Amino acid sequence: MGSPTITVGSSPFPLISNSNSKTKHSHPQNQTISLLQSCKSISQFPQIHAKVIKDGHQQDTHLLYNILRFCSNHKSMDYASKIFEKIKNPNVYLYTALIDGQITSRSYLDAIRIYSQMVGESVEPDSYVISSVLRACGFRSDLNAGREIHGRVLKLQLRSNRSVRMKLIEFYGKCGEFADARQVFSEFPERDVVASTVLISCYADHGLTKDARVVFEEVPEKDTVCWTAMINGYARNGRMNEALALFRKMQGENVRPNEVTIVCVLSACSQMGALELGRWIDSYVGKYNIRLNVFVGSTLIDMYSKCGSLDDARRVFTEMPKRDVVAYNSMIAGLALHGKSGEAVEMFRQMAQQGLRPTQVTFVAVLNACSHGGLVDLGFEIFHSMTNKYGIEPRIEHYGCMVDLLGRVGYLEEAYDFIGKMRIEPDHVIWGALLAACKIHGNLTLAERVAEILVNERAADSGTYVLLANTYASLGKWDAAAHVRSKMKGRGIQKEPGCSSIEVNNEIHEFMLGDLRHPQREGIYKKLEELNGILKSEGYSPATDIVLQDIDEGEKEWALAIHSERLAICYGLISTKQQTTIRVVKNLRVCGDCHTMIKLIAKITRRKIIVRDRNRFHHFEDGRCSCGDYW
Ligand code: ZN
Ligand code: ZN
Repeated sequence: MGSPTITVGSSPFPLISNSNSKTKHSHPQNQTISLLQSCKSISQFPQIHAKVIKDGHQQDTHLLYNILRFCSNHKSMDYASKIFEKIKNPNVYLYTALIDGQITSRSYLDAIRIYSQMVGESVEPDSYVISSVLRACGFRSDLNAGREIHGRVLKLQLRSNRSVRMKLIEFYGKCGEFADARQVFSEFPERDVVASTVLISCYADHGLTKDARVVFEEVPEKDTVCWTAMINGYARNGRMNEALALFRKMQGENVRPNEVTIVCVLSACSQMGALELGRWIDSYVGKYNIRLNVFVGSTLIDMYSKCGSLDDARRVFTEMPKRDVVAYNSMIAGLALHGKSGEAVEMFRQMAQQGLRPTQVTFVAVLNACSHGGLVDLGFEIFHSMTNKYGIEPRIEHYGCMVDLLGRVGYLEEAYDFIGKMRIEPDHVIWGALLAACKIHGNLTLAERVAEILVNERAADSGTYVLLANTYASLGKWDAAAHVRSKMKGRGIQKEPGCSSIEVNNEIHEFMLGDLRHPQREGIYKKLEELNGILKSEGYSPATDIVLQDIDEGEKEWALAIHSERLAICYGLISTKQQTTIRVVKNLRVCGDCHTMIKLIAKITRRKIIVRDRNRFHHFEDGRCSCGDYW
């Protein structure tokens, strides 16, 4: 998800009025410009260029300006530079055309260099070109170049120019120089909503959502773009609850969201598992005729499948007036997430039949589906088609899917060999996938071999270390487990805290491990105790090898008993009606013990419980889970 685009100022050139029909064919330059406009590709250009030279117009500013624009529109800046080099005394407009072209093709350093050359040639920059170059400085975080331009702005008395100021705020904000950004911001005579929005986005880009909110609150009349910038800022910094709360406030103040707002809020819903709010936004999109374009449509599909309602995802997909690769990708990924492997592969085939070319993302989704379904032959067929049929070089995530697939069906040695033959360096995720498979299939010899490789791997993350320590622990190798733990500590790696959320009455409730913050904590813990009692009387005893800490047996049981998903489920049980499906979203993988316990809870309480963890969905019902205990 990108930040909302804020366009400030527009091209001020009087020179480009070239569609005047009276003069169009009366001047030879205009004939050439017409030729340029009808030109479809850069390959036709040399012919036109030859004509320009033959007609003796190679120094005609109007014509040259259009030629430079043409080159930059066709992403041919090398050609543009060559033509530019031959221009005698180019004026500010020609410099601007070249600089804009470089910025469009993301050659920011070249843009800044050409600007310096222009100033060196004593061509005075105007507010438009200064705004452009400031953007380039912002993209490169080139503080020196930007400050120098700021100095020139003061010298040329351009400081009151709105567009220049806006770009100065953006430039300082992008560089993280907020004191300077605020200084320029304070020079606006009153709170300017666009300038405020620029500043809000910059703060949010640096993770400073609090500062962003202060600026936001000071804007007297906030427009849709301003609201969206703040909501997006929260969403991009993982503050989903705040994003959703602000969206509700926006509704309260009757400000209409645009497509970008909708996409931001839907992404927040996906991450939080806020199905009800997501549904409401879906109906809002329909009611207010917000275009169900591929952008909004794909995000809706993604939201529904991540919030556990695959049927709604399918419905949105079917209703979309036009389905492109992104829509197919979302749908295939959604099907994979829910373990509908056959359907996902079918969708992949259908997409190819429609003449749509699969992308890297498509292959991750479809290979994931093969992996979840244990479809080895089909998986390899599709994997090989990447290079053979589509010329797409597999990336690490594609290899990861294949290792996962082999590991799942127990082809552990084959997976090990496969990693050895990879055309890129395997990372800790790949080895981690194999280690997880070894642990599940009980191949301790190979587990140790893989563990050794992982210990020497310096880029291992907390999940890998925990898995490694637990593997050693389950082998009874306590010393090795302790060694891994101290190594993890020594490298300053902290375990990401587990967090589960549940939506009840349109509100998201979050729980951490052993959380005591919830106002209804008493009821929650009472329910948990009650369930533990029933489970114990049914002969259930918690597994203890999954706890990383060195604590005695009694404490271990206690630490397990309050994993965040259990608290979220208990809250769901006490606060919803008997028929309601309980939907919980967890940021980490569900541990084996919670998995066993949730299966039993679903059976005892006769509830459907759906848990989305980091990897996939678990639909618990009547003592069983849809993942077949492999996840
Ligand atoms: Zn657990
Ligand atoms: Zn499961």
